[in-house]
Amino acid sequence: MEQATYIWDDGEMVPWADATVHFLSHALHYGTGVFEGIRSYETVDGAAVFRLSDHMVRLEASARAYGIPLQYSVDDLNKTAIELLRANELKGAYIRPLVFHELGEFGLNPAGSRVKTMMAAFALGSYLGDDGVANGIRAKVSSWRRISHEDFIPTAKGSGGYLNSSLAKSEAVRSGYDEAIMLNQSGSISEGSGMNLFLVSDGIVYTPPVSAGILKGITRDSVIEILRDSGYEVREEELARGSMYVADEMFLTGTAAEVTPVVEIDDRAIGSGSPGPITTEAQTLFSKAVRGELEEYGKWLEVF
Ligand code: PMP
Repeated sequence: MEQATYIWDDGEMVPWADATVHFLSHALHYGTGVFEGIRSYETVDGAAVFRLSDHMVRLEASARAYGIPLQYSVDDLNKTAIELLRANELKGAYIRPLVFHELGEFGLNPAGSRVKTMMAAFALGSYLGDDGVANGIRAKVSSWRRISHEDFIPTAKGSGGYLNSSLAKSEAVRSGYDEAIMLNQSGSISEGSGMNLFLVSDGIVYTPPVSAGILKGITRDSVIEILRDSGYEVREEELARGSMYVADEMFLTGTAAEVTPVVEIDDRAIGSGSPGPITTEAQTLFSKAVRGELEEYGKWLEVF
């Protein structure tokens, strides 16, 4: 991880090395936190954060879902993100806010633990590697099922839920793949370990619905809008595992992963075995949108 100079620690900018947490923090033991992942880019109009407010609104929703009382308004958090980027002299960066239960009563009920809010920003390249972005990645269906609506809140970015994602990701990498594809409890496709999934078949674009246990990705939402604006039909539909084996194209979307083609699943080539035309178009348009090169998506950029 590339270090920055300051981290925002509940109201003040502190040097990176001094941003520490107590060993007995509730969230460290039980995962009682919610977080976000946001990116800023250098755009044609200067540096800008992509869909900043949408991310902070999702942070607020995640906090509400897990019953963590948010200490700041969305507006305050938006301002803090910009102040943090400026303080660190960062333009293109990854921004990580985290709201978590810190010290308090012993035991599982977090109600007696103080709520702490932090935000960090640092430089981050392609999450799945430059080669993966350009030429596509190899993925494997995970032996782990994605957290379900019955035992977690998959639509919320709750820290504890990421033990599940981490098991899937590390298993895939240990087995020689770049990424894990997670099925849900019913055996339908949900998503990657930290990104949403799209398939293309006969020119139609498919992506699993929220009921499949996905996190409702902001990149997913942006790509759906971009593709529909470009005339493609995009369907939110339950997808069987087998649909990946016969798809023409497959790609993953996420703030960290942006739009990354998947060219192999379970050791089988997808389509031609290289990134397909709709994937490439989605990738190009998304990349232009985040860099302010497409006027119609300027609404997503918070220039600072
Ligand atoms: N699913 C999971 C589990 C994630 O952690 C992420 C990253 N936030 C995504 C999907 C993609 O969401 P977004 O496009 O909002 O980053």
